[in-house]
Amino acid sequence: MTVRVVACGRTDAGRVRSHNEDSFEIDEDRELYVVADGMGGHSHGEVASRMAVDTIRRFVAEAEREHDATWPFAYDPDLQRHSNVLKAAVQLAHDQVLSAIRRDGNLFGMGTTVVGCLVRGDTAAVAHVGDSRAYRFHDGELRLLTQDHTWVNEQVVAGILSEEQARDHPLKNVVTRALGGDSEVQVDVTEIALDPGDTLLLCSDGLTTMLDDREIEAELQKIADGELNGACEALVKEANSRGGHDNVTVVLLRAEAED
Ligand code: CA
Repeated sequence: MTVRVVACGRTDAGRVRSHNEDSFEIDEDRELYVVADGMGGHSHGEVASRMAVDTIRRFVAEAEREHDATWPFAYDPDLQRHSNVLKAAVQLAHDQVLSAIRRDGNLFGMGTTVVGCLVRGDTAAVAHVGDSRAYRFHDGELRLLTQDHTWVNEQVVAGILSEEQARDHPLKNVVTRALGGDSEVQVDVTEIALDPGDTLLLCSDGLTTMLDDREIEAELQKIADGELNGACEALVKEANSRGGHDNVTVVLLRAEAED
């Protein structure tokens, strides 16, 4: 079964922050969708998140024409070609952020999370670093596809903290992996077989710190048959109505049966 993907995205500074350090990209021709959440003083977070998104878009575009699609990064034979391309694109984005910091000492401390999705046929490759997330909404149910690279999530996985304790923990914003962090970055990649009617959500933590998974699910159920733009608007509006403590970015993509 082949599917056709329609997508929309929204980003908003929220109700507290003076500027928006999130970036997103929708490249419908290449079926590439990316959300990045930058960090660093003096608006350097914006520089990092935009650099990540632009690097990934360029790498994916070039990889279509190249035989050695992931060069100079390793090729994982357990993953499909486009999953390898997306993974290499994220690794290159990390190298680009690090090089920018090396060239200009003022940028020291900047970094960004990223979650990206590249669709080929009916397979969505999802890659992420940090606490930006991907979810699948299938048959009315929302399921998280990514594990946050955060200190609190590691404690939850290890059984030391409960989900509730993690939610309000003072260290909940500490990410353990980011582009621009350690010299090597480990990128998590997963492959999802899309069914017609499935919706994927990519988002920054400005959404998930304001709404829990059940609340996001309820928003998506409300608009299940409606057009995606309304759903993007509704999620951003809901995050802001609950306080909008952070920049919020959502990208929604829906798989439709190709006729
Ligand atoms: Ca954020």
